[in-house]
Amino acid sequence: MKVARPEIRSFQPPVRTLMGPGPSDVPPRVLSAMARPTVGHLDPAFVGMMDELKSLLRYAFQTENELTFPVSAPGSVGMETCFVNLVSPGDKVIVCINGVFGQRMAENVRRAGGVLVIVEDPWGAPVDPAKVEEAFAANPDAALFAFVHAETSTGALSDAATLAAIARRYGALTIMDCVTSLGGVPVLLDAWGIDAAYSGSQKCLSSTPGLSPVSFSPAAVERIRARKTPCPSWFQDLSLVLGYWSGAKRTYHHTAPVNPLYGLHESLVMLAEEGLEAAWQRHRDNHLQLRAGLEALGLNFVVREDARLPQLNTVWVPEGIDEAAARTRLLQEFGLEIGAGLGVLAGKVWRIGLMGHSSRQANIALCLAALKTVIQ
Ligand code: PLP
Repeated sequence: MKVARPEIRSFQPPVRTLMGPGPSDVPPRVLSAMARPTVGHLDPAFVGMMDELKSLLRYAFQTENELTFPVSAPGSVGMETCFVNLVSPGDKVIVCINGVFGQRMAENVRRAGGVLVIVEDPWGAPVDPAKVEEAFAANPDAALFAFVHAETSTGALSDAATLAAIARRYGALTIMDCVTSLGGVPVLLDAWGIDAAYSGSQKCLSSTPGLSPVSFSPAAVERIRARKTPCPSWFQDLSLVLGYWSGAKRTYHHTAPVNPLYGLHESLVMLAEEGLEAAWQRHRDNHLQLRAGLEALGLNFVVREDARLPQLNTVWVPEGIDEAAARTRLLQEFGLEIGAGLGVLAGKVWRIGLMGHSSRQANIALCLAALKTVIQ
């Protein structure tokens, strides 16, 4: 044998407190749900659980959309699923960029052969509805409009209801990224008129990373059905995936990640038990408490008060502090993970997450005590 047997033992991860931009802490209930026996992905018991998952997701997204299910891959694939199915070559798409994930949306449009119209806002600011209105006035033929509800790279929350209403007036369909918002702040797909939305399992839902809940309105489904060219991705082609996720007879499309889906199911049961309003309120209350502590330490927020995400607190790194060294100390001495800056904010900010199960009193106390030690 050419390749020698490696002397590697089972992996034992350290216990961390996850207060970065995701993943968030996964509650023991979700981890133990994932340890239940694996069944076949076409087993009738599993198919029953898939139907429950769809109902639970409809509650989380506040939608009656029939086409609501988790894509078997991380949030980035949920994003691509929206773009590769809805954008045909030559379609004009208005994309708002106010951080990293808006940039990724734009890249998705380019790769799908769409004609891109960019609306830019400064990093840390929400999307400006006046600029969106201007972009539609100059491009009334735009077929699609896309924005990030909760920009994880900056901590800014945009006014989804107002933005989607502009798109609707111009007859365009709206794609919304709610990877970081779902479960942490109101996400009301039907009330706001969102046509396609994608999220992630690892943020305010507090399941493990690797699944992306998506939802498509009847108008979005109609647009997908009317495509003249086939969806360029086989795996993400909704017309094919649906044979597995809906209908009387489920057929093989890909082998679903059975145990991670148990985990997502459990996390959504926990969200339903708590109630959406109560979950939003918990995120808000804990944010206010963390904010008071951060300000007492002399840390300043990047995002203006009325656009701050309660689940992602972005603060400027104080003068004279080596931000990477401080994060290393937090991890090594306190087992605490917080996030670094991304893109233009790299090296300048810390992103402190209070997402899902991480949004707890004990985490706030640990974070404030640990930060005090490393910056003072
Ligand atoms: N969109 C937003 C707003 C995100 O925060 C993320 C991940 O952080 C993604 C998309 C991509 O999700 P994933 O990393 O699960 O692929």
